[in-house]
Amino acid sequence: MSIYNFCAGPAMLPPAVMEKAQKEFLDWQNLGVSVMEISHRSKEFLALTEKCEASLRRLMNISDEFEVLFMHGGGRGQFAAIPLNLHVNDKAAVYCENGVWSKGAVDEAVKFTTVTELDVRNDTNEQFSIKPASEWQFPVDPSYIHYCPNETIDGIEVFDVPSHPTAPIVADMSSTILSREFDVDQFDLIYAGAQKNIGPSGLAIVIIRKTLLEREGVAKPGIFDYALEVKQGSMYNTPPTFAWYLAAEVFDWLEQNGGVKAMEQQNIAKAELLYGFIDESPFYSNKVAKHCRSRMNVPFWLNDESLNTQFLAQAKEAGLLALAGHRIVGGMRASIYNAMPLAGVQALVDFMAKFAQEHS
Ligand code: PMP
Repeated sequence: MSIYNFCAGPAMLPPAVMEKAQKEFLDWQNLGVSVMEISHRSKEFLALTEKCEASLRRLMNISDEFEVLFMHGGGRGQFAAIPLNLHVNDKAAVYCENGVWSKGAVDEAVKFTTVTELDVRNDTNEQFSIKPASEWQFPVDPSYIHYCPNETIDGIEVFDVPSHPTAPIVADMSSTILSREFDVDQFDLIYAGAQKNIGPSGLAIVIIRKTLLEREGVAKPGIFDYALEVKQGSMYNTPPTFAWYLAAEVFDWLEQNGGVKAMEQQNIAKAELLYGFIDESPFYSNKVAKHCRSRMNVPFWLNDESLNTQFLAQAKEAGLLALAGHRIVGGMRASIYNAMPLAGVQALVDFMAKFAQEHS
């Protein structure tokens, strides 16, 4: 029986990458030791980091205007690092709110800078929805604008990109990075916790426009200081080397499999299959307006919620893992990141159809 893991994060990684990592686990590059056991400053590891960054730059078409950092502390680490680095005296940072994680970013930012919260939702009684980014009303001169293009818990994705004449645009791409093509030039800072589309948790990727490094921000720990980390090649302290190695392997795998464009096409096909089935079914529902449904995280509800426990138990028996919705919102959630094949989504749909038939 095939096992498909729908966990929202840490999420499944490409099986080919996991198998290669397993083979190399004890003896990397014929060094006789694991990549985990060598100095981050060894020539072998430095070659890995160079290759890794070059690969990400190709995948996302990142220009020389940007630095790429591999940092500690996942997504929430960046919730703190961003205001610490980008704060400007007498200015407020605008935080657009469209779900649980964008609100989480606010809760951290208010500790370090002045925040203006901007509700960009447009919910009705029936559906969760988002206003078009062109209608988000920004103040004249904020220090920066933060938003979350994909809300992992709410299953809401913002497909357009906000813009502002002066303020840098900062995006939490934790659960959408590399899932579709982005024009990096439309952003000033992109960050992502690694544990969905990149590799193991703990690592965060930061893509930052060089001009932003001139900002002083406020006093901050060295490990969260962007300018210092750039100077130190993301090695101010010992980096999460194994996570970095795995990220490099995932980037390699992406390049070998058609890059972000091919992933995007497959992700559209997977999302259409699952949402299409849910919309057709009188047994299940999704509460997000069609124009902002996440391609990565698909929350759904059984119309008879008393069957939830049974649904999850039988799904697990069928090899379909981690389908419980986030504890804040309940219901179910299927996370279908890059590593999830179409066959996995098909297996889920087949199971859902059978379960519905048996309980209708
Ligand atoms: N932002 C988003 C969009 C997320 O989905 C998550 C984690 N699921 C986070 C931030 C927080 O990441 P971490 O747990 O790595 O701090």
